[in-house]
Amino acid sequence: MKKWIAIAAVAALASLAVPVVMLMMIMTAVGGSQQQVSSTHASLCTASWQGDSITERDLTGSQLDAAATIYAAAIETGAGPEGAIVGIATALQESDLGANPYSRTPNSDGDVGLFQQRSLVGWYANGATQEENITTLNDHAYAARTFFLGNDSLDGSHIPGLTDIDGWREMAVTEAAQSVQRSAFPYAYADHEALARALVQRLGEGEAGQILCAGAVGGSLDCPASGLSSEAGLNADALRGLRCIKQFWPQIDVIGGVRNDPDSDHHTGDALDPMIPNYTSATGIALGTEIAEWARANAEGLGIKYVIWRKQIWSVERASEGWRTCGTDAASCYSGSDPSAAHLDHLHLSFLGAMGTGIPATGAASSSGEVSLPIARGSYRLTARYNQKGSNWSSGYHTGLDFAAPEGTPLRSITAGTVTDTSWHSAYGNLTTITADDGTVFYYAHQARRYVTLGQKVTAGELIGTVGNTGNSFGAHLHLEVRIGGRHTNPETWLTTRGVAP
Ligand SMILES: [Zn+2]
Ligand SMILES: [Zn+2]
Repeated sequence: MKKWIAIAAVAALASLAVPVVMLMMIMTAVGGSQQQVSSTHASLCTASWQGDSITERDLTGSQLDAAATIYAAAIETGAGPEGAIVGIATALQESDLGANPYSRTPNSDGDVGLFQQRSLVGWYANGATQEENITTLNDHAYAARTFFLGNDSLDGSHIPGLTDIDGWREMAVTEAAQSVQRSAFPYAYADHEALARALVQRLGEGEAGQILCAGAVGGSLDCPASGLSSEAGLNADALRGLRCIKQFWPQIDVIGGVRNDPDSDHHTGDALDPMIPNYTSATGIALGTEIAEWARANAEGLGIKYVIWRKQIWSVERASEGWRTCGTDAASCYSGSDPSAAHLDHLHLSFLGAMGTGIPATGAASSSGEVSLPIARGSYRLTARYNQKGSNWSSGYHTGLDFAAPEGTPLRSITAGTVTDTSWHSAYGNLTTITADDGTVFYYAHQARRYVTLGQKVTAGELIGTVGNTGNSFGAHLHLEVRIGGRHTNPETWLTTRGVAP
């Protein structure tokens, strides 16, 4: 599909003074559905440095915090610790981890921030003006996420990030950094590799920085039968877990249940193995992380005993220690290269039996808290699901969730945020985008009327327009998209895991 074929070409152009119009010609057209769209990044991770600096070099507190922020973004985006080394080495070169005073104002090319990302409209941030983009790119968490994931511009083009680069994990650090940055001084990144490795090692040990990932919380744990044959023989907690995983993440096709293995909780019907599709991709890793964090956040409601995912274990008994790394003094679980034994291709969840309260977790979600449906319940019909295949969409895939409703039906913001676009697009028709405080962007397409203005603050449930049939639309409907870190995510999952199943 076009986006990925074109990445090499765009990467080659990314730091050169190429007119944006050329990028548009290369990239997928406006509003196009894209194949790599099933990223589900509801968990947003944050970190700050704790404790002393490292011995290799005397870094300031804000430099150490920047390193921790890059590390958290690497974990969140699935780039992992290897990605964090590339990211930190890059930021050391580009901005001295944010300490270079000139890095906060754009250079002659418009490059700004931790990674010197281009602030011109249409590049690394989706503001209406360069001024807005400068503010966005000076936000370290945004800049770091974008370094790893790239950016989907409003025109549908994609500026690649590290995880878009084929084979980046096999590259030398300097080569991987250069493939994202296209710097005029490609070898300079190597100078920072040792320091970056030392920082990542300290962060990985969990002493220098604590990563906090907000799991998807809310959402009823009273889930319907899944239709999976692996429901057979499960005890109450595992059965509830299986049904809710299938309900919230329908893209999971296989969830292992009971099997004859006397050494595991599968034997007694107290464990599940949700298999992650495309588990080596950033999308697959993010999906597994989301489920793992959901299980952790809802441990009481689900009756969780422990969770293993990607060589990390979290148990209720030792919850205060957070995720523990397998193959260390802290955890004896397998940490070798077998993808199944190391829990790379699936999560393992062990349950207590029949101890779950069934009450969903509430509390700090990554969003603003209150979430509403975009159209009053009973006034719409869901007509096209996320990632659904079909010839209606330019690449054969659907990037949003369609709510069919009569033209003129009131349309409401699903969460609090700021209006970041309200204009006409040939494919989206009358479009409003609203950006939440955590950077998640919501697209409301094909509107008949738009009632908001650029920069306006809205609350969840606030009227923003009416349902229409404008742009590339066949019948009045709302096309809702949710983008986290510049990537599409499943709006249905996003809403359901926040307590308002559409
Ligand atoms: Zn298992
Ligand atoms: Zn749609």
